[in-house]
Order: sequence, then structure tokens, then C-alpha cells
Amino acid sequence: MPRKLLERMTRWFKPGSPKNGILPEPRIIPRDQHPISRKQISRAALDVLYGLHKAGFDAYLVGGCLRDILSGRQPKDFDVATNATPEQVNRLFKRSRIIGRRFQIVHVRFGREVIEVSTFRAMNRDDNPDRDQHHAHEETGLVLRDNTWGSIEEDALRRDFTINALYYNIADFTLHDFAGSINDIENQVIHLIGDPQTRFREDPVRMLRAARFSAKLGFHIDKATAGPIPDMAELLLQVPAARLFDEVLKLFLSGHARHSYEQLRELDLFRFLFPETHQALQGEHGETWEAMLLAAMDNTDRRLELNKPVTPAFIYAVLLWPVIQQRMGGYLSSGLPPAQALHKSATRALNNQIKHTAVPRRFSAVMREMWELQLRLDKRAGKRADALMEHPRFRAAYDFLLLREQAGEIKPGLGDWWTRYQEEDEQSRRQMISQLGNQGGGGRKRRRRRRKKPATDN
Ligand code: ATP
Ligand code: MG
Repeated sequence: MPRKLLERMTRWFKPGSPKNGILPEPRIIPRDQHPISRKQISRAALDVLYGLHKAGFDAYLVGGCLRDILSGRQPKDFDVATNATPEQVNRLFKRSRIIGRRFQIVHVRFGREVIEVSTFRAMNRDDNPDRDQHHAHEETGLVLRDNTWGSIEEDALRRDFTINALYYNIADFTLHDFAGSINDIENQVIHLIGDPQTRFREDPVRMLRAARFSAKLGFHIDKATAGPIPDMAELLLQVPAARLFDEVLKLFLSGHARHSYEQLRELDLFRFLFPETHQALQGEHGETWEAMLLAAMDNTDRRLELNKPVTPAFIYAVLLWPVIQQRMGGYLSSGLPPAQALHKSATRALNNQIKHTAVPRRFSAVMREMWELQLRLDKRAGKRADALMEHPRFRAAYDFLLLREQAGEIKPGLGDWWTRYQEEDEQSRRQMISQLGNQGGGGRKRRRRRRKKPATDN
């Protein structure tokens, strides 16, 4: 039945005019026929749901949290949908804040947990925040706001995938399925609601979301949904780089980096996020660099599993390394010293990348340090090794070095040396340094000052 419903919806569904269509009847599943229990819902989310309900509003859990519970996962956070307007929600909860301008939602804070409350919205105002730029004149109108609100049926249809369009009613604990959501969660398939091409055009980020959910959940992307993606992938170039940076973090720093990468390649999305990296990976040392990238992604996934901290700087440093290496070759052969060649290549790589995904400066500064340390890690004579270890980025640079060795980008040895050096006591360290002999960058040379003027960037 739900599949038929979806087919019917897909047929009549025309974005921009949902009110003219027949809205879908939900399939309502009573409490004793579904497994969602209040024990799985956070105290904070329940407080918001009950608070709205007691004030006479409709209150539903919606989207990702239900999908996650039904597929046996712990939800990352809880989203609530209601017919109360943001102002009404805001008045109801002391620790709440209205966020956004065109599409206002309310954040209700309980300690460190934030519950996102959105008002039922109709389809003709799509979710694409980028449209703000093109519709600035609509910003101020009250009319727009009134038109924006919709019924729960309309709200279900403007969501992206069927697996994200399920509702749990706090009034009677029923599940409301408007789009064959339960079926698709059970069958582990990702299905865009409505006509895929139209919905991707409205918001190209949905293509990345399809890749992400597939990677995260291990779900298969339905053929009709996946089919148009490679041809439409170029639309990502129209999405503001800041939003794409956020999406890349969700793809690569949520514990499923390798799968995300594989999906992005498969759907031909990767090259519109990282054009220069894509190009470098097609080149001569492409396989080695890809091996390094995959090793970094596995590392990141493992760290997250162990609850260790991860930083966007690390994964970005690896992603841009092939670009830098490739460009450096040219600078070196034109006679620039390595440090300057690296500096120039890094500047170019970063300047080009931020046009696609806006890497904030606090991360790119760290990336530069990690790259620069790659040149210095092999100069260990005298007191240099100890000084390097004091460097705030030493640990990251050392991990980076190990990856390069692991992938075969450089010959093994140096990484091992550093591993031992960190483990040894002072006396053994001195011995290790003296054993370096002429390798390791010579201690005396350091004092000779270069008089050459430093080259400027670009
Ligand atoms: P997760 O939080 O695990 O990443 P999620 O499904 O909760 O997954 P969010 O980005 O938190 O994803 O969005 C919450 C809900 O809002 C989604 O479940 C979906 O229904 C809707 N949504 C989010 N982004 C879009 C979009 N670009 N187009 C349409 N609907 C969207
Ligand atoms: Mg969410």
C-alpha cells in the first residue's frame, strides 16, 4: 500500500503547487503496532512535545530520529514538528531562541541538548537556504510568512527522502506515514519524495544528502533517485561554499568517511566538491594518493568509534595534499627551495578550494602547519627533534607522516624513527640523534643565516 501511495504522490506532485494536488492520506500506525517507545526519546524532546501538546498544539517527533530508531540506531538528535508558529513556540519555552530569517525554526535548549522545533511548512517555499539570495525582496513580507506555514501533509511532502518523512504523534503515540516511509526504512532504500530532477534542482545539496544517508545507514539509493545525480552533480557549483563545507564535515566526520567517499565517487559528486583533488587523483600518482586518502578516512572513522577527537583540518590536509604535491613539482624544478615551493603550492590549493568548500581560516592555518612540518620532520639533528616535538601540530604532522608512509608516498623509516623517539628516555634519544650522523639535517648548518629575501605569496 505505501508504495502505491508513493507512486500516486509522485504522479500528482508538482512542487510549487501542492495545494492544488490531493494531499496524501497518512497511514496511521497505532502504538501497539510499532516499536517506538518513549524510553528511546530524550527527556528534552519529551518535554518539548508535552509542552506543546499541553498548550493545545499538535506536536510530533519527525525525521531522522525516527528513521534511526527504526533502523536500530541511536538518534543523534531529536527534531520536533508542530503547528505552533515560531513565536508561539518561543513564548512557551524559556530557554528557546528563534533561528533563521526566511525559514524560522526554534532551538529549545536543555543543558547541552538542543531540540529543533519547526513549524509545518508547505512545499512552495522549498528548504533551499541559497534561494535567500535570489528572493531577497520576499524577506520582509508578512504574507510570505503566512503562506509558508502549511499542514502536516504538506510538511511531509517538502521533506527530502521518504525515510526522513515519518511523524510520531505525542497525543496518542501513533506513527504517521505519508510517503511509504516505514516500508522504505524496512527495505533500506533511499527514495526522494516527488520528482527527483525537480527536487535536486530546488536544492542540489539533496544529492549529497542521498550519498551521506546511504553511507551512514548502508541503505541503497533507489534507481530513480540515483539515476539523475551524475548528470546533475554540476549544480553543486551553485551552492554557497560555506554550506558545502558544512556538508563535507557531515560526510567525512561522522564515522562513515570511507563510505561517504565511495558514494561521492560513485555518484560523480566528488569532483564538484574537490575539483583539483579529483584531477590529481586521475594523474600519475593517483593510486598512491587515493590510498592515503582512504587510510586517513579509516583513521578518522576509527577515532570517532573510540570517542577520540577529530579535526576537519586533518582530513582537509590529506584531501589537498595531492594537489600540493603535484604543483610543488613544478615550483621545485623552476628552482624554488622546498619550503617556498610548498608555501606557494599551499596558498594556491587553498585559494582554489575555498571557492568550493569554504574552509575557515582557523583550519587552513593548521593545515599549513601540518604540511610545513612534513619538510621539517626529517631534520632531527641537535636539538631539533625535541623542538619539533614541542610544536603544537607535531602530533598531527606525525600522524600525517605515518599515512604517507603507509600509502607508499614516501619510503618507510622516518615514521618508525619518530615512533621510537617518542617512546624512548632521554639517554636513548641522544643516542638516536648521534646515530643519525650526516642524515637528519646537520646541527651546525642551522646557525648560518640566509640573507635572501623571502619570496612573496602567489
Ligand atoms: P541527521 O541529523 O542524522 O543528519 P536528519 O534526517 O535529522 O539526519 P537534518 O539535516 O537534521 O537530517 O534535517 C532534519 C529533517 O529536515 C530531515 O529529516 C528532513 O526531513 C528535513 N530536511 C533537511 N534538509 C532538507 C533538505 N535539504 N530538503 C528537504 N528536507 C530536508
Ligand atoms: Mg537531525
